[in-house]
Amino acid sequence: MEKTDTLIVGAGPSGIFTALELLNQGYKGKICIVEKGAAIENRACPKAKTGVCVHCKNCHITTGFSGAGAFSDGKLSLSADVGGELPELIGQDTAQSLIDYTDKIYLSFGADKKVEGVSDSEKIKEIRKKAIQANLKLVDCPIRHLGTEKAQQIYLSIEKHLQKSGVEILFNTDAEDLIVENGVCRGAALCKGKEKSEIFAQNVVVATGRRGADWLDSVCKKHGITHEAGIVDIGVRVEVRNEVMEEVNNILYESKLIGYPHPFKNKVRTFCQNPGGFVSQENYDNDLAVVNGHSYKEKKSQNTNLAILCSSHFQAPFDRPIEYAKKIGELTNMLGDGHILVQRLGDIRDGKRSWQEDLMRSNVKPTLTDAVAGDITSAMPYRVMLSILNFIEEVDTVVPGFASAETLLYSPELKFYSNRVSMNENLETSVKNLYCLGDSSGWTRGLMMASVMGVYLARKLMKGE
Ligand SMILES: Cc1cc2nc3c(=O)[nH]c(=O)nc-3n(C[C@H](O)[C@H](O)[C@H](O)COP(=O)(O)OP(=O)(O)OC[C@H]3O[C@@H](n4cnc5c(N)ncnc54)[C@H](O)[C@@H]3O)c2cc1C
Repeated sequence: MEKTDTLIVGAGPSGIFTALELLNQGYKGKICIVEKGAAIENRACPKAKTGVCVHCKNCHITTGFSGAGAFSDGKLSLSADVGGELPELIGQDTAQSLIDYTDKIYLSFGADKKVEGVSDSEKIKEIRKKAIQANLKLVDCPIRHLGTEKAQQIYLSIEKHLQKSGVEILFNTDAEDLIVENGVCRGAALCKGKEKSEIFAQNVVVATGRRGADWLDSVCKKHGITHEAGIVDIGVRVEVRNEVMEEVNNILYESKLIGYPHPFKNKVRTFCQNPGGFVSQENYDNDLAVVNGHSYKEKKSQNTNLAILCSSHFQAPFDRPIEYAKKIGELTNMLGDGHILVQRLGDIRDGKRSWQEDLMRSNVKPTLTDAVAGDITSAMPYRVMLSILNFIEEVDTVVPGFASAETLLYSPELKFYSNRVSMNENLETSVKNLYCLGDSSGWTRGLMMASVMGVYLARKLMKGE
């Protein structure tokens, strides 16, 4: 039986920043991080060599040290208006001051000093004017862009720093269950290969990210941890030529637009814009293939990609939004024979599927080369599809050419935000000594906000020490 003082399950940004801030605040206890994936230096997606996804047991893109952050585009959103609802829990001012603080930590580990999206205020005004004409809201958000390669270097430096400072990191180790006795969390049951063990701790922090959403959901149900059904975002990844997005790319880097298009008025928004970037695939449990996008600091494509997400918030009696989204993903995968589907906007309007040769005739060539041309509308719910199509027409007012017939729509783009775990202002759940962080808590959905939540928790734990 192993013992530690603070046990952190998951080495994504939220878990890492809890450990970092505990060290920064002079924590004297033992810290142990349990991570189902590999150390960052051992993370490599085989697709880079094979050209196709080989469906690893633990996807290297989403698991391992720095979690989904390692291969992410590394865009740190420096505004409390972006990245989830954490400000509702801890206050807008606290969230903003922790963003400024956490940003300095990223800088100290080598993040690029340049901040995008803060210059050219006259030009931003012009873009906002067009957004207003289109009934869209333009959200101001300065961005520090790490880039995928740089993000990995930064997280490698953090990994080495934590280990050198005495933090124990158990890689390739799964937390299978939490040990809860009489409403108090005592530790976790672990599994490494065939080896089973238990680890006990004073504080148990669950920071398992989107990857661990299903696991956390089942653990919440088993141990009576209070939580509620969260929202789910279903959408598409849009890809256009850089020329179309040039103005907003240069002025804003990332244009965060929000609308409530007719007729359903669901919230629809742009997300994760990658100028000169590449559309990518990530795999979840049961081989669910989901589209994403990233961009490198040096290597550039001729395209810009971004997600368009439509939020659905279900009411009682339905409480399984993640399963709902997965079914849509599975259906889309089925139509694409396990691959991501891609369709031209013009073909959707004409009510026909796309063919591979249609794609080759366009200015925009798909950067996700193994995506299969087909019909995404056959798997997408009417409400979501119509909301997205109407939103694209609105964005075309701000970015002329965005709604061109050749614009590519990849599917499924799904964001599972975990059910929202109920917590007090110390981030303690309804089970004593159990805390929940980052994307797995349902309160964040981005690198910076997940990191901030880790810093916030560390300070709270120090106060209770
Ligand atoms: C391709 C991609 C690109 C992205 N780009 C951006 C971006 O540019 N900007 C941005 O702000 N956000 C981006 N994101 C989102 C961002 O990466 C996440 O919001 C962030 O990483 C969340 O941090 P986290 O610590 O909550 O969880 P995660 O980073 O998901 O980390 C959770 C960790 O927990 C581990 N884990 C899960 N279950 C268990 C278990 N049972 N036992 C042990 N370990 C477990 C996982 O292996 C993982 O390492 C991107 C995500 C992806 C996938």
